[in-house]
Amino acid sequence: MVVSGMPPYDDNNVFAKILRGEIPCNKIHEDEYALAFHDIRPQAPIHALVIPKGKYVSFADFGGNAPAELIFGFNRAIAFVAQKLGLETTGYRLIANMGWDSHQEVPHYHVHIMGGRKLGVMLVPSQD
Ligand code: AMP
Repeated sequence: MVVSGMPPYDDNNVFAKILRGEIPCNKIHEDEYALAFHDIRPQAPIHALVIPKGKYVSFADFGGNAPAELIFGFNRAIAFVAQKLGLETTGYRLIANMGWDSHQEVPHYHVHIMGGRKLGVMLVPSQD
């Protein structure tokens, strides 16, 4: 699916390869809707990624085009993973980068779950 501001879905992106089992990941959870694994370059004591099982480049693509059951199941999986990681009581931050300004690196929709310490302000001041 072509989404404004993003190239079409690339079957060779790293998360597509992880979903196909061609690249290993440090798996936390998997169900019919989602796969969750630890980020390879963690930016918090706990930094997990949750990706939907489907070819969606971004939040815009997923939110606009995925079937309702997948959106529901994916969101349930995020909540389940955060709880499994023990973040429910201390809290956590969800981040979904979308497009160039957000610095989205991997063009397969994913949600970051970050926690394990006080995370501070949401954004550092712009360097522009
Ligand atoms: P984003 O900038 O939102 O696209 O985030 C992409 C994230 O994927 C970054 O935090 C990377 O560290 C992470 N990442 C890239 N390759 C891998 C991999 N093979 N396994 C786990 N995490 C990865």
